[in-house]
Formats: sequence, structure tokens, C-alpha cells
Amino acid sequence: MDMPVRQSEELNLFVNAQRQFERALTWIDDIKVGLIDYMINPQRTIHVRFPVYMDDDSIKNFHGFRVLHNRVRGPGKGGIRYHPDVTEAEVTALATFMTWKTAVVDIPFGGGKGGVKCNPKELSRAELRRITRRFVTELGDNIGPHTDIPAPDVYTDQQTMAWIYDTFDMMHPGDNNLAVVTGKPLDVGGSLGREEATAQGSLYATQQLLSHGVVPGLDTLEGATVAVQGYGNAGSIAARLFHEAGARIVAVSDSRGAIYSNDGLDPVQVLQYKEETGSVVGYPGSTAISNEELLTCECDVLIPAALECQIRVDNAPDVKAKLIVEDANGPLTFAADAILQEKDIVVLPDIVANAGGVVVSYFEWVQNLENQQWDLEKVQRKLKAKMDQAVDDTVACWNGLNERHKGGFNGKKPGPLLRDAALVMAINRLATVILQRDIWP
Ligand code: NAD
Repeated sequence: MDMPVRQSEELNLFVNAQRQFERALTWIDDIKVGLIDYMINPQRTIHVRFPVYMDDDSIKNFHGFRVLHNRVRGPGKGGIRYHPDVTEAEVTALATFMTWKTAVVDIPFGGGKGGVKCNPKELSRAELRRITRRFVTELGDNIGPHTDIPAPDVYTDQQTMAWIYDTFDMMHPGDNNLAVVTGKPLDVGGSLGREEATAQGSLYATQQLLSHGVVPGLDTLEGATVAVQGYGNAGSIAARLFHEAGARIVAVSDSRGAIYSNDGLDPVQVLQYKEETGSVVGYPGSTAISNEELLTCECDVLIPAALECQIRVDNAPDVKAKLIVEDANGPLTFAADAILQEKDIVVLPDIVANAGGVVVSYFEWVQNLENQQWDLEKVQRKLKAKMDQAVDDTVACWNGLNERHKGGFNGKKPGPLLRDAALVMAINRLATVILQRDIWP
């Protein structure tokens, strides 16, 4: 009996990240094996298990992680996720992506990521506060403004970041501790523009990519149709900003389902509806579709902005978009990349597309260390410069790899992906710093 294709596919995010890395390495001629091992494996993984009093007076134990993947280019940097499916492999993969991402946008950070296995939808605000405070206490000095700096991720927000800061600050009285965490509320040392930074960065990156003319059949967002999976921080703001840039948002989704309208959805009203009812599903004038249907609907641009491994061997052949903008981390499997490449669908990879969040986190960190508050115009100008540069560098590297492909591989190896180019750039930047620091005793 034939097994469903999906069962044979690797859905471990860290294994997918390793395969992406290995594929990129095939474009690099001269790199020592020991250096490769050092660059792919995490430098430090912390597990903490801790008890929390629940509102009903019971005691529940939670399992949290913080992975410092690499800090050669600077302190670890990366979000903290609260989700029932959080695992060590997932957090390690996400920390790995952060190492590449910070190198691609060339900011002085390494890669880190954290998570607590819990279901925020079943927890009260008071329980989330106690979980956060206890988690930070358990992490102790493994986080800090110059060691490893958390930020928001799935189901954590500004409030979570304020709790992290306050807990760390109580543990280190007398210091300026604001830079221990980014994505804080404005009044607690946050940066203007941080809330929308991930989506804003993905808009800048998409516009810059289109200006290079590398997406077959698509050279502008004006009039383009867009589908967005996930309607949280990254997704809902991307829908609004792409809409403001002239695109028609034809489909959006959240964990409860998806909606479609060929006439176009108003992203602000959809968000208001979600805030009132708990979901985008049921928004007046829209048709309910499944999340699967959203991923394969007719559109020019598909923005996965929810979770990982959403586009796989089983649905990649049906994707109709011309361009996929990875606002989520790792939304495509390794195998999906190859299928999409054959279909001439261009993928703007996560380590470029969603890097706006960490770029403005970096700006927040700088402002905190200098006790400054930049205005929004300055944040956005500097963000655009970083995103444009990252896209220009990626496309330049990709053009270089394409030249090599034409000259040397006789069609035996598939041409480079934009993801390969971004990773080659990141690996080279990391290797340069490792060699210049001469980190061996
Ligand atoms: P969020 O918690 O604000 O939103 C997540 C959204 O995804 C919610 O609307 C949720 O309903 C939806 N969702 C969950 N499961 C789903 C499913 N199976 N199908 C469809 N929708 C589903 O999280 P976020 O901060 O927007 O993060 C989303 C993605 O973007 C993650 O992959 C995250 O790592 C990535 N990212 C976020 C940031 C940031 O600054 N927030 C930065 C870079 C990357």
C-alpha cells in the first residue's frame, strides 16, 4: 500500500535547517570541516523545569529552553516563544536561523532563541506573568545585555518583554538593564517602529527584490494579489502594509481557519473583527476556506506568517503564487524548496524577509545602551537601508552563484536559490569573523 507522501518527509525544523546549510555549503569551495561543525551546532542549550502556582491553586510544572546558537559576531539574539509544541529541536533551529539572519543584515549579534512549552490560550494573564518571571529567574545570568538578548515571538508580546525586563532588573539593581530584552513597550524602553518592524522590513525587502526584476511575471506590488497565513504580529501588520503599498489582500488566516475574498479584504477591519470575535473566520463578505486552501489559492504573493513546515511536499506542487515571502521562520521544508524551484516560484527566504524585527531590536538595544529615543522617521529610514542592503547583497551573491552554475555544473546540480545565496553570504561573514578573531587557544 502506498504511504501518504507527507509521512516520508522530514518535518524536524533543525534537520531542515541543517539541510539548508549543507546545500549552501556546496557553493563554497574552501572551508574546514571543523569550522562547519562549529557553525551549525549550538554553543549552549539550557533546559529549565520550574513550578508555577495556577489560579485554581494547583501547581503545574513547565519546561523551558534557551539556546545560544552562536555568539561569535556578538551577543545571542532571538525571541521567546510560548507554544504547546515547543521542543529543543525547534528552538535550536530557530536559534540557528537567528545566527544567519543577524549576519545577513550585518548587525553585531549572534543567534539565540527560547521557548516555554505551554498553551497561552489556556492561561490567564496572571499565570503567564508568573511563568515568565519564574522562567527568567531560572535562566539567571544566561541572558543579559551583552550575552544573550530575548525578544517577542509566537504568543509572546510587549507585556511579556516588560515582565522579562522587570524580573532581570530586580536581579541586577543599580545597572541599566533595559538592553537585556527588546520588543518592550515604548514607556519601558521600547523603540518606536518595533511593533511593526518585522512586517515593515518584509515590505521593504519585497519591494527591493521586485525592483531587481528577479521574480518572473511580477515587478510591482501595485495591484498584486496577496494571501497571508497567520494574523498575529507579523501577518496582520504585513497585510495592512502590503495593502497600503497597493496590493489586494485576497486571503488571510489564523489558527481557527482562513477567509477569502476576490474583491480584497480590508486588513484593518479584519483585525478589528478578529479582536472582537477571536478569529478572522466569519468576517462579513468573506468566504471561509481552509488553511490548506489559503496556501494554494490564486495569488501573486503568498506570505506564510504563522508557524514552520507549512509548505511541504504534499502541498508545494499546488502553490500558485509567483513569490513567497517567508515572514515566519522555516515555513517551507527543504523538499518544498526544490519543488517550488522547479515551478519557477521565487522564495524570499526568512533570514532576509523577516529580519526587520531583529534589525529594529538592534536599534532598540543601541537606544537603551545610550539612553536615547529615536523618532519613527529615523528608525524606518535606517530599517529600510538595512533591508535594501540585505536584498541587494543577496541578489548580488545569487547572480554570482548563477554565473558559476552556468560555467561549471553542466546542469547536474540545480541552480542556486535566493536562500542559498543568503546563507553563503552569512556563512562567509561568520567565517571571516571566526578567522579574524582567531578563536582557537
Ligand atoms: P503571533 O503569536 O503574533 O501570531 C501568530 C499567528 O499565527 C496567530 O494569528 C495565530 O492564530 C496564527 N496561527 C497559529 N497556528 C496557525 C495555523 N496552523 N495556521 C494558520 N495560522 C496559525 O506570532 P508572530 O510574532 O506574528 O510570529 C509569527 C511568525 O513570524 C513566527 O514564525 C515567528 O517566528 C516569525 N517572526 C516573528 C517576528 C516578530 O518580531 N514577532 C520576527 C521574525 C519572525
